Amino acid sequence: MEFLTKEIDPNQYERLEEVVQYSQEALELCASLGDYQTSLTKFKNRKDIFERAVQGLKQLLPISFYAFYAVDGSTSDIELEHCDRPEWESMIEETVDHLIEKGMVALAFREKRTLTSRSRDGKYNLLLHALATTSKTYGIFICFLEKKPFEQYIVDKITTIIIKSTCYALENFELYQLIDQKNEELIDKNAQLSKSEIIYRNTFENTGNPTLVVDSQGEIVYSNTEFLQFSGYTRKQLIGRKKISDFIIQDPQFSFPRLLSSAKRDPRGKPTEYTFENQANQRKTVFLKISALGLDDQYIISLTDVTTLKEVEKKLHFQAFHDPLTNLPNRLLLQGRLAQAIKKKKRHQNFNYAVIFIDLDRFKTINDTLGHHYGDQLLIQAAQKISKSIREMDTLARFGGDEFVILLDDIQGSQDCERVSKRILEEFQTPMELDNNEIFMTMSMGILISTEQQIEQTDVIRLADMSMYEAKKKGRNKIIYFHEIEDKDIERKLLLENHLQKGIQNGEFFVQYQPLINLDTNQLYGVETLVRWQHPELGIIPPNSFIPIAEETGLIIPLGQKIFELAFSDYAQWMSRFSRLDKLYLSINLSVKQLLENDFVENIRKMAAKARLPLENVNLEITESIFIDDSGQALQTINDLKGLGISISIDDFGTGYSSLKYLNQFSIDLVKIDKLLVKNINSDQTNFNIVTSMLELCSKLDIKVVAEGIEDFQQLARLKTMRCHLGQGFYFAPPQNKKRIEELYLRSA
Ligand code: C2E
Ligand code: CA
Ligand code: CA
Repeated sequence: MEFLTKEIDPNQYERLEEVVQYSQEALELCASLGDYQTSLTKFKNRKDIFERAVQGLKQLLPISFYAFYAVDGSTSDIELEHCDRPEWESMIEETVDHLIEKGMVALAFREKRTLTSRSRDGKYNLLLHALATTSKTYGIFICFLEKKPFEQYIVDKITTIIIKSTCYALENFELYQLIDQKNEELIDKNAQLSKSEIIYRNTFENTGNPTLVVDSQGEIVYSNTEFLQFSGYTRKQLIGRKKISDFIIQDPQFSFPRLLSSAKRDPRGKPTEYTFENQANQRKTVFLKISALGLDDQYIISLTDVTTLKEVEKKLHFQAFHDPLTNLPNRLLLQGRLAQAIKKKKRHQNFNYAVIFIDLDRFKTINDTLGHHYGDQLLIQAAQKISKSIREMDTLARFGGDEFVILLDDIQGSQDCERVSKRILEEFQTPMELDNNEIFMTMSMGILISTEQQIEQTDVIRLADMSMYEAKKKGRNKIIYFHEIEDKDIERKLLLENHLQKGIQNGEFFVQYQPLINLDTNQLYGVETLVRWQHPELGIIPPNSFIPIAEETGLIIPLGQKIFELAFSDYAQWMSRFSRLDKLYLSINLSVKQLLENDFVENIRKMAAKARLPLENVNLEITESIFIDDSGQALQTINDLKGLGISISIDDFGTGYSSLKYLNQFSIDLVKIDKLLVKNINSDQTNFNIVTSMLELCSKLDIKVVAEGIEDFQQLARLKTMRCHLGQGFYFAPPQNKKRIEELYLRSA
């Protein structure tokens, strides 16, 4: 279930969502630019036009305020014409003086693109852009931003588009004013006819967009200069010779009559997107808008060039669905494709897909020892190796960290998976190369094939992940198919996994303490913290049922944190309430995964400091598996913990690896003999021998020994004769709540 829990870095996820939303807003904004021109008549003055532009920009940029500086025609100086925060005028003026000094304003006029800068006090990010058309320079537009803009590349493109359209709006606005003025004169002179002539010419020349007048057949009757530039033809070549349909390509649906009739049905309709090809065979994406001119069955077609915007959109789209390091699809894209595969499977029984969950073995160790730079190189090379082994129709996604997931689309059966996984393993037989060093990497794979049962989307990757985890458990560099896992408990496991996360959030976990007894004095020596889960429906769930799942899913990290908090807080209370308590030993169980967390030691130090708890009284119990996994990092963490004064026990000794060598090597403080050895201590000679030699060895190494699981007096008596000094078990007391511990032991202490 990692994709539901550990691996989704909330920041990354939010950013993806942001990018997608941003792309949509950019597109909507672009679509609305067409209206900019048509709403010109509504503008009463230039200020309205700026405000409209800023309104648009604000959807995409964190603009606090803006200012417009107009060029004085006679002196060529610029002067503040309008700002939306008059109270900050002097600050704005100062900033602009500073920009002029730095030469930024001159540069903006020269380059006519968006420039970025900062205010002198560093408080604002500035965007400045010259307002100029091919024929006229209006001034300069400055936006003050409190935060850095979202994506510089996109910001540049979009502000440029908006500013350009603002410039033409300014130009047209002046024209309209002129026309209005002329109009009145004309009305006066009662010469209505030439009025339309003026409107006609001026409006088309100055829309700022390539614009045509066509007849009812789509034939070009008039073209503005902008369209000439855009299409690469002269007026002569166009008028009466070309149709609008000659320029629209790759769209078999395009027919002028259809366009016309839809325009008639919906005169204020949305612009339609087409691919336009000019004389030089360059292709542009355009939004096309058509409206009736009201003259002799003629129509205006206005085009907006959105090619750059489309590129931006494509880039945003790519970013949203790909991993920046390897350029592979990310989990979002994978989930999408998987959803399609599952849908297909529901419709066609014969269709099958498979998911291969891959986790690089020991990547973390390599990453930590060689550094992130090399870690990244390894991931890129691993991605390439895996890519080579799959078909084009398959999806390889980076799932996070060193995890990759392959979706094999439309497979015949398990033989296809075998082929692919074999090819991947072969690829990895050749080493990775890092600055002339060769590194061999292996991986663990879990494979889920869709053949058997219907699997829900949320379970597919989880089950593949679970199979991968089995492969890791079986010693890495292995492939495990989901149907090979013998665990009949899978259903329950899945259920628990779902509830585990909620349980942590809802505070359903609590701890009990089991006393450790000094066998010589019969006094309380310490307590072991044991976690319990009070599930709202399933009741109390014992740790053996959920700790392994918490470990698999990474939930052991937040859960472990919780346990520390609970135990430290209880202990701190005991310390303050029971004055003679400075010697009580507080033991907490640890999973190896917790030791691999980077800030684990620092976390414990902080928590203990907060609870004012001396770390000399804290003991952490780990199992021998840590030596088998032999991760340098875990052992380093143990040393760091010891450095804080914390003591370390080996738990369940005698059940697994049981290597005495490590006890000394890693300066272990205490060994807990497993209850299985204790159980038969009186009847099983081998057990008796093991425990005897353990006790002898530990006494030489100055390691304390606790016998776990003492259930009756015979066991206790035997252990005492063997000179075991510490014990724990139901004979003394089961694990109990904090209150009981206080009543039974602490009050009398
Ligand atoms: P463990 O560390 O070996 O803990 C001792 C277990 O033996 C406890 O089971 C305890 O209730 C049980 N026990 C104590 N005395 C006797 C006895 O006389 N006879 C028998 N038959 N059993 C006895 P519990 O609480 O169910 O815990 C099971 C395991 O779950 C623990 O084994 C430990 O490995 C794990 N665990 C418990 N709490 C935590 C925790 O906070 N963190 C981690 N990582 N693991 C935990
Ligand atoms: Ca334990
Ligand atoms: Ca134990």
